[in-house]
Amino acid sequence: MVKLAEWQGKVVFRKYGVPLPRGEVARTPAEAEALVRGGKVPLPCVIKAQVLAGGRGKGGAVRFANTPEEVRDAAAAILGLEFKGEKVRELLLEEKLPIARELYVSMTLDRAQRLPILITSAQGGVEIESVPDAQIDRQPVDPFPGLTGYEKRRAAKVLGLSGGPARSLGQVLDALWKTFQQEDAELVEINPLAVVGDALVALDAKVIIEDDAAFRHPEYAEVRDDRTELEEIAREKEIAFVQLDGNIGVIANGAGLTMATLDVLKELGGAPGVFLDLGGTDDPKKVTEAFLLMARARPSAVFLNIFGGITRCDTVAKGLVEAMQQVPAAERFPLVARIRGNNEAEGIALLRSAGVTAISDLRASAQAAVDAARGRA
Ligand code: GDP
Ligand code: MN
Repeated sequence: MVKLAEWQGKVVFRKYGVPLPRGEVARTPAEAEALVRGGKVPLPCVIKAQVLAGGRGKGGAVRFANTPEEVRDAAAAILGLEFKGEKVRELLLEEKLPIARELYVSMTLDRAQRLPILITSAQGGVEIESVPDAQIDRQPVDPFPGLTGYEKRRAAKVLGLSGGPARSLGQVLDALWKTFQQEDAELVEINPLAVVGDALVALDAKVIIEDDAAFRHPEYAEVRDDRTELEEIAREKEIAFVQLDGNIGVIANGAGLTMATLDVLKELGGAPGVFLDLGGTDDPKKVTEAFLLMARARPSAVFLNIFGGITRCDTVAKGLVEAMQQVPAAERFPLVARIRGNNEAEGIALLRSAGVTAISDLRASAQAAVDAARGRA
């Protein structure tokens, strides 16, 4: 998932003709002040943290300023924030517009209907998740004709627009549709789409590009995302690896078993930290790589839960034993394994001979992992 920051989303919107406020990006308070003093951004202005999380308005990450001094102070305050776990490194400064109403429009994919869908609501400016369903309108869009006059007229009606503003809405929606299609987006959202006099202006931009289309968009390769350093390495090696907050590492195969394993650990009072989904692999080389990555995340203990269906338990075990020997002494951790299925007995024997605690029962083995992690915490 390539999630663009607001200012990057607005660069894309501008290309397709979505109406936007004047704005510039700053990375220091001095830079912010200079933009205003140099007339690049008119006063009064809005100063917005460029983080990927929403709810910035409510969370103090969007501020207003009337003078260059206020701009500098607001910029300094916002750049010092850690907003929902993300450090603020960039600001977007924009002219402050007099808003009459805040509307919501977005385009996304409805996977159940297998169609793009246009979502509109007259209740803009708040997160769409908090808007009552009855106040949200959803229109599937046939991708071949694209957006037609019908959908645009219905959207105008839902949003309470007529005359000039309704025509502007038509242009905004055409531009949004083009953005959605040509950029291979999975979501394009304007919230709020502000009514300013007779005009409509996109005050916010959320653009998410579909991963599977990344090869068609080399321009997004450099976009910053929220992967950790280890997750980034894992991605390059095509290993499914996610870092959470806890201290127990989980290695399982298949998304379902991996999730269920996290749940069991949690239920027993453990804190799953990193998880690794081996999927269908039992290639010892791949298992070794994955295991070494796990070690670098410094878990207090690792719980291995493998079901050998097509995967053979003994080859997975062999890869693990080889990998364990390569882990530097300082990074070693207790390993508890539950390994069932194809060639189970051979797998268990291999693990036991390498000093791994192997237990067949799910609950008992998960408990052993929780205890092992606690012993070292
Ligand atoms: P979010 O809370 O993270 O979605 O950030 P938004 O970009 O949606 O901004 C939050 C709120 O700040 C908006 O709903 C507006 O009420 C307000 N805001 C943003 N830009 C302007 C502006 O140019 N003028 C005014 N008056 N308010 C603005
Ligand atoms: Mn918003």
